[in-house]
Amino acid sequence: MAVLVCLLAGLLPLSWVQAEAQWDPHGYIIYCPCMGRFGNQAEHFLGALGFAKSVDRTLILPPWRTYKNIPFDEWFQVDPLKEYHRVILAEDFMREFAPEHWPPGERKGWCYSHSGDTSNCDMKIGNPFEPFWTELGVDFDDYVLFNIGFDNMYANAWKERFPPEKYPVMAFKGAPASFPVKEHHIALHHYLHWSEAIQGEASQVIEKHLNNQPFVGIHLRNGIDWVNACQHVEGMTEFMASPQCLGYSREKTVIPELCLPSTQEILRLTRKVVMATGVKFVFVATDRHPLTAELESHLQDQKVKVFHLDPWLPQIDLAILGQSMHFIGNCVSSFTSFVARERLREGKPTSYWTFTE
Ligand code: GDP
Repeated sequence: MAVLVCLLAGLLPLSWVQAEAQWDPHGYIIYCPCMGRFGNQAEHFLGALGFAKSVDRTLILPPWRTYKNIPFDEWFQVDPLKEYHRVILAEDFMREFAPEHWPPGERKGWCYSHSGDTSNCDMKIGNPFEPFWTELGVDFDDYVLFNIGFDNMYANAWKERFPPEKYPVMAFKGAPASFPVKEHHIALHHYLHWSEAIQGEASQVIEKHLNNQPFVGIHLRNGIDWVNACQHVEGMTEFMASPQCLGYSREKTVIPELCLPSTQEILRLTRKVVMATGVKFVFVATDRHPLTAELESHLQDQKVKVFHLDPWLPQIDLAILGQSMHFIGNCVSSFTSFVARERLREGKPTSYWTFTE
């Protein structure tokens, strides 16, 4: 009753009340999104969501990791995820449940070890491991060794080995998932929707700079880290997010131009898509060279405006690309794959540099 009164008076956030009512006897999973930047973390997230569902534990939504923790709901809505599985924000979990159900002194980190070697089991050594858990207010007291895979076929093994009565919270050092995302987890992007704040910023840009007109969105991944990484791809059957183009069967090989397309290819394909769609705006997202002048010159006869934002948050670029009439991305990039999955859900077309199916 007191809770109801406080809620009605606006003194308690709704999430508090919902969380308080719902300690999950099936247990919880939390992990550090400690590998890679956003695109990698997003692919891992989908796998972790699938894993949590398969072992029937609530997924504690970890903050995204940049140079600091970003609460999950700053960038994404929580409610659509609940249509698929039980989730709770990490900050809510720590405030409402951890003091009683996962108190200091009883926090164990799950450590993968095939041979019984425990030298890798410290959950908080190095960056981003140490600051991630520290910002959540978590120290670990012990660890639990495991050597079970995360595929659905092992779900029963997890349940039998780690019953929730004895292990209420499984805390993983990294995502309980694969990178690149497993094929059957791609569809889970269906439940991942931008927060109103991100969506609102994207809409403002589209209105202000693209006149709310249809546009072609392109992703140019060409920063120095990428240029270096692409030098070594020749002959590989899989490299980073390449399965989004080449499939998961590993029958095709990655070529350097797939990873780092030439300027000529970028101009060619952009023009082709502009001509096919008839748009008058091209939106360029990139980590380094937007090629704005080259694109404008190449599209001069079509009277196309080329716009590059360089937003304060990469997620704004992603949300804008998601809204384009046609998107052209990079087969190897997980930044691209995020956009491509969202567009798959919305039934919007995506093409890739140097790639025809
Ligand atoms: P991947 O390395 O391309 O697979 O994608 P990640 O997202 O894991 O890492 C690349 C990071 O570079 C992104 O998270 C961004 O921080 C940055 N980045 C790459 N492409 C773009 C872009 O088009 N726009 C912006 N704003 N940042 C980008």
